[in-house]
Amino acid sequence: MGFPTTVFEFLETFPDEAACWRYLRRARWPRGFRCPRCDHRRSYRIESRRLEQCVRCRYQASLTAGTVLHRSRLPLRVWFLAIFFVARHKQGISALQLQRDTGVGSYQTAWTLLHKVRSALAADPKRLLSGLVEADETYLGAPHEKGRRGGRARGKKTLIGAVVERQGPRGQLRLGLLASHTYEHDLGPFVRGAIEGHRTTVRTDGLDGYRPLAEVGIEHERIVVGPDRSRGVKLFPWSHAVFSNLKSWLRGTFHGVSRKHLPRYLDEFVYRFNERWREKELFDRVLGRALQADPLPYHRLTAELVG
Ligand SMILES: [Zn+2]
Repeated sequence: MGFPTTVFEFLETFPDEAACWRYLRRARWPRGFRCPRCDHRRSYRIESRRLEQCVRCRYQASLTAGTVLHRSRLPLRVWFLAIFFVARHKQGISALQLQRDTGVGSYQTAWTLLHKVRSALAADPKRLLSGLVEADETYLGAPHEKGRRGGRARGKKTLIGAVVERQGPRGQLRLGLLASHTYEHDLGPFVRGAIEGHRTTVRTDGLDGYRPLAEVGIEHERIVVGPDRSRGVKLFPWSHAVFSNLKSWLRGTFHGVSRKHLPRYLDEFVYRFNERWREKELFDRVLGRALQADPLPYHRLTAELVG
């Protein structure tokens, strides 16, 4: 089966709940059903509870346990379609738009679904960046970002750090929420946690918070940019593009996002950026992620996020 890339292909691939069910079944048992208890190969489905029941011992295996779809009562097709939109739309989809497009009961239902999908998209912390990377930071959340000292004034704005590989179309990105420009608690752990230290050159502007990188043995290219913006764009083309796309995405698709929920949006943005070179496979990849990710109960979704 090819990956659906158009809405028509999606509708052909998943015309009904049964087709989504078959997909989940294949994902769970690629070589056909196997009873986890008695190893029997035949089962029948209990559709209302999304279970496959073993014909011999009556063990009930859930199709969605251990995935982000766990305990959801929404039609599988709504999940699949939402994942299709997240994967295929360059800008993703807002909860309001998803609610309108699928007719799900409430905004909150659509919002929760999308956050559960996002929770599956966090970058693999073991995949470290290397080569020449740009490390940079910016403020989100205020219409005008001019302040004291070259736009680095603090206020109600949220500080975001980026580390991005300069490796053409496959260069990888990390974004992080930072509390300040200091090295010890913020810039240092963020940058060092994103890179493979001995194989990386970190290019930064003249900000003091990056200075200690060299002291811990990381090759550090520190360039004082000055007030000329175009020079900054030339020296840090990737981070500038990332920040400007991120800001217009958050503004355009979601009309701004609260700091509390920002980390998951950053995960979605980073995922789409990092996978941009295999865009056609994205539906299958995002769906695969959703099926492998841990379930995220609603109370945890709203409680665990940074306040
Ligand atoms: Zn059995």
